[in-house]
Amino acid sequence: MNFDVLIVGAGLAGASLAVALQATKLKLAVVESRLPVVPIGLDQRVYAVSPASQRFLSGSGIWERLDRDRICAVREMDIHGDKGGHLRFSAHDAGLAELAWIVESSLMLSELWETLKRQHNVTLLCPTTCSSLSIDIDSAALTLADGQVVRSRLVVAADGVNSWVRGQVGIATELQPYRQHGVVANFGSERSHRQTAYQWFRKDGVVALLPLGAQTVSLVWSCSDEFASELLALDDASFCERVVEASGGSVGGLQLVSDRAAFPLRLMRVETLVKQRVALIGDAAHAIHPLSGHGINLGFQDSCALAQGLESLASWEDPGDLSVLRRYARARAEEPLLMQYSTHGLSRLFGMEGAAVSYLRNIGMNLTSNMPVLKDALVRYATLGHF
Ligand SMILES: Cc1cc2nc3c(=O)[nH]c(=O)nc-3n(C[C@H](O)[C@H](O)[C@H](O)COP(=O)(O)OP(=O)(O)OC[C@H]3O[C@@H](n4cnc5c(N)ncnc54)[C@H](O)[C@@H]3O)c2cc1C
Repeated sequence: MNFDVLIVGAGLAGASLAVALQATKLKLAVVESRLPVVPIGLDQRVYAVSPASQRFLSGSGIWERLDRDRICAVREMDIHGDKGGHLRFSAHDAGLAELAWIVESSLMLSELWETLKRQHNVTLLCPTTCSSLSIDIDSAALTLADGQVVRSRLVVAADGVNSWVRGQVGIATELQPYRQHGVVANFGSERSHRQTAYQWFRKDGVVALLPLGAQTVSLVWSCSDEFASELLALDDASFCERVVEASGGSVGGLQLVSDRAAFPLRLMRVETLVKQRVALIGDAAHAIHPLSGHGINLGFQDSCALAQGLESLASWEDPGDLSVLRRYARARAEEPLLMQYSTHGLSRLFGMEGAAVSYLRNIGMNLTSNMPVLKDALVRYATLGHF
């Protein structure tokens, strides 16, 4: 089997890349080890989708097909420090309709897969696993567990943070575990969230309550491994009480409407995004702390940049050629690094003990809050990707 582009991994990053290439003449193969699981009820894995990512999903028709009743626009962000610091961002003040949308992971993934399955230029190989990968001058050859060999001019590693492809081609990584987990759960709330995303920087971690349904909120509590185990071990009523206390009762009483889950947090950088015939996207290319809510937005923007590069190729250009791939690497050089440094810096800053540092970080938040020009610039950069 011979292809132009072989995507390994059909999570949100890999599937969105394949779908973004639906109108091209490129012959695509997608290899995925498992079928997507659709949870019963609300998914606890939710994302704050930025306007730039929304435009990307809209470009391939995915956004319009998502169930509107399960998407919540975020109009305000309300951020609290651990000693009286307070920052409030408003879409209205920044001249935007919304700051982001909160969407369940499985909702986007199901829609992407529905499109993938019908896509004329995609051969979907799932479920299957990879056994070896070799790269030569003209093409890459992937051998699957059943012995089938798939040849392609370009291999895209979209196989997550522990990327097998990245390991096979010897791209080194710098991995820094935070020794923290993100504890996630959904709740019915007594009062409306008023389309506000709340965040509290606390001694026991960073608590985010994101607006989901009409009176439903989604929790991401980034905290030490030990505290995460403690939270997971609590009975439902005590867990709800802890979250109400941590969130200062902002949306009143809470009632669990999903299971709890936890995922490990790490910072991961790669030495290069591309090699001859190989490009990395999504978590295979970078992992960041979830406190900025940018993880999957970086993944979507990788897919978007790579898709744009591939779409614009002349018929004589080779999609796996290093000079072609370097354009993608250049396009993605800045944003992931900036996000990694800023979220890493913030998580370190709020993890530091001591009265002086606590005073300074809270004063810093209040100062920013009183500088509308700076505040709006920050909002515009976070949502639109430019000042
Ligand atoms: C349990 C968990 C919960 C999370 N919850 C949140 C959350 O609530 N909020 C948040 O912002 N972020 C969350 N994250 C992080 C977020 O899910 C990732 O940033 C995002 O999923 C990255 O998308 P991706 O497509 O790059 O990678 P992934 O979603 O990891 O997708 C990789 C895909 O590749 C497939 N694959 C892997 N290896 C192979 C192989 N060798 N061959 C074929 N296929 C392969 C996998 O099956 C998977 O489908 C969570 C992560 C985990 C692990």
